[in-house]
Amino acid sequence: MHSKIIKTQLAVVIHAEEEFDWTRNEFHKKNTQVSHVNEFSEFCLQLLSMGAALTIAVDYPFVADKNAQAVLLRLLKDYPNRVEIASQVHAWVTPPFFHDNKESEYHSYICNLTAEQEFAKIKSLSDFIELNLGVKPTTYLAGRYGIGKNTCNTLKKLGYNTDISLSPFADFTRQQGPDFTETTNQIFSQNGILRWPHTSGVISRSLLVTKWLNRRPQYIKKLLAHNPCLQLTRKLLGLKILRLSPEGVRLKDLKKLAHAQIESGYPNLIFSYHSPSLKQGLTPYVQTAQDLQSFKQETLEFLKWYQDTYDAQFICVQDFTG
Ligand SMILES: [Zn+2]
Repeated sequence: MHSKIIKTQLAVVIHAEEEFDWTRNEFHKKNTQVSHVNEFSEFCLQLLSMGAALTIAVDYPFVADKNAQAVLLRLLKDYPNRVEIASQVHAWVTPPFFHDNKESEYHSYICNLTAEQEFAKIKSLSDFIELNLGVKPTTYLAGRYGIGKNTCNTLKKLGYNTDISLSPFADFTRQQGPDFTETTNQIFSQNGILRWPHTSGVISRSLLVTKWLNRRPQYIKKLLAHNPCLQLTRKLLGLKILRLSPEGVRLKDLKKLAHAQIESGYPNLIFSYHSPSLKQGLTPYVQTAQDLQSFKQETLEFLKWYQDTYDAQFICVQDFTG
């Protein structure tokens, strides 16, 4: 029996940003080093040559880097229909600065600034991208998924039409960030802004359970409670909540997650990673040469599998047609 062909679109979103000590949760404005441009560029070309489309969500230090600028301009010139520049605001390295040299964890979430301060930072990055790369971004990503109640209005004023900052099932409230535990992967419109979540979701041993939970995130919160009985249930179900990202997620689970999302009624996927993961030792996910090799190989294999398995289309976020 052949399974039915489902139409699905996938956007590769690269968080293109400075290097950061992920173990230390410190937010210095001088922390702007970008030493992985060659590795970033090489892998972009590999993905493009296999047919993928890239949405590169650049932040301020990345655009400020002259090598990165040259690479981005070249990609835009050589692949005008398959490369999009989106903006990604890391509040602590984006002028104007409102606090000292170092941001608190609270203010590292840009949604915790005032509406005027959030506006000023998003505008400053947007203008900086336009000045240096000659394109006006229309897709926005809040660094640390820090989207808040004022963000959509701000985006509209600044000429954006799409936001990709929702991170379903994730709860950042312990770090004073947003709570997405009741957010699904459903794409929707809000005040004229298209909201396309970063694909994250549930997998388990039972497709039926998986589909049920992916549509009802409120139950996941209950299932994750500390309770020996629930712990056993989770184990028996093989329940995992994962992001569609090669960072810490193996190929087998990436395929399972993509399949689960498509089957759950969310056929449009965002596959994402951070640019520093392309150089050994810069993120917790890629520490050894072996990690780096599997990161790249599994990314390529996943995208190839996706293309071969479904009636699939690789798109930039800005080209989403619903
Ligand atoms: Zn980031």
